Amino acid sequence: MKHFIISLFSFSVVFILNACAQKTNKSTQVEPSFSVSKSDAEWKEMLSKEQYAVLRKKDTERPYTGKLLYNKEKGIYKCAGCGNELFTDEMKFDSHCGWPSFDREIAGGKIITEKDYSLGMLRIEIMCAKCGGHLGHVFGDGPTSTGKRYCVNSASLSFEKSSELSNSRLTTDTIVLGGGCFWCVEAVYEKLDGVISVESGYSGGKIPNPTYKQVSYENTGHAEVIQIIFDSKKTSLDEIFKVFFTVHDPTTLNMQGMDVGEQYRSVIFYRNQQQYNLAREIIDQLNKEQVYEKPVVTQLSPLNTFYEAEDYHQDYYALNKTQPYCKMVIQPKIEKFEKLFKNRIKKKE
Ligand SMILES: [Zn+2]
Repeated sequence: MKHFIISLFSFSVVFILNACAQKTNKSTQVEPSFSVSKSDAEWKEMLSKEQYAVLRKKDTERPYTGKLLYNKEKGIYKCAGCGNELFTDEMKFDSHCGWPSFDREIAGGKIITEKDYSLGMLRIEIMCAKCGGHLGHVFGDGPTSTGKRYCVNSASLSFEKSSELSNSRLTTDTIVLGGGCFWCVEAVYEKLDGVISVESGYSGGKIPNPTYKQVSYENTGHAEVIQIIFDSKKTSLDEIFKVFFTVHDPTTLNMQGMDVGEQYRSVIFYRNQQQYNLAREIIDQLNKEQVYEKPVVTQLSPLNTFYEAEDYHQDYYALNKTQPYCKMVIQPKIEKFEKLFKNRIKKKE
């Protein structure tokens, strides 16, 4: 028993070191250009002493001291330097490492990474993509389906409650949809006002943590899907579904355009009875009004696990606009969306 306690203790010491411990000197120092840039003196003036030390000098706050460590309120975590929206309360989990931890980031390239060889080991540093502020590190030992643990200093973050009127009212909601190739659907929803994040992934199959290769060539049962986190004050599940039935063809079984296979099936993975009821209602209505020539074959399945796809699939369209598939298949869907939902498109920052 004693031995057990000792090894537990040494484990936790190593763990803490491994987690967020920082050193001010870094072996690699690149200065990319950021859309928010200020002189050192300006940063010093606008940030608190602690924020400046962490964000600009890559310092680390002591574990279990940060003000947001135990925060469980609904809302958005932003970069304390520039206001860039980085995480939502849905992404936060208790990692017991002493720093606020998140299992993913808000999609859209809001965070950049850099290899950090300080402390004699390789860690992946995370920084705000807008101002270059140091946030912490990301590790591959997260307990949720993403497998990631973003270990972030409280001092790097500011928190905005999602509802000033009532903390208990849930305003963020999540839905997982499959409408053929996930690159296409992701690109469309990234533009819809009220959408906080869109991630490409896999769901509905038999094997855990599938790869793109397995989903494409093996009989995994997984569908290519996107997970949408949205602010239900700015958009609604109803609108999310309307966009869904506009930008893909829900009448072709296990195929979408030229993409053929079970992984391209039209499917709504519902999380609760309310999502199921609304989806059922819309599908029945589409069939009744004969909106399409053929009946809707969209599956309704309960959500088990959403597995995030490999990094190179995230924001695929935004990063590969000139690629032929994007030009031929994705671009027309975005144009259709922009035409029909022209008043609902996110305003550029
Ligand atoms: Zn920032």
